[in-house]
Amino acid sequence: MIQPEITDEKPNKCCIDNTSNNLYYDYGDAVEWEVWHCIYCHESYVVDIEIVRDFKNMKQVKTNETKK
Ligand SMILES: [Zn+2]
Repeated sequence: MIQPEITDEKPNKCCIDNTSNNLYYDYGDAVEWEVWHCIYCHESYVVDIEIVRDFKNMKQVKTNETKK
């Protein structure tokens, strides 16, 4: 999916505050970025997704091998 064109405009105040959870997920590639939409001012924003590897909570993959 191709990311939409973006502007240099600063986000509207209602969007930054997001006090009433007014930002809603619209669409995106679900890996690197998403588009969120404000139901108050109807602006849309590209939001970069930061994937963090959680090694602290990693879970061991089940195998059929016998443990030595
Ligand atoms: Zn807004």
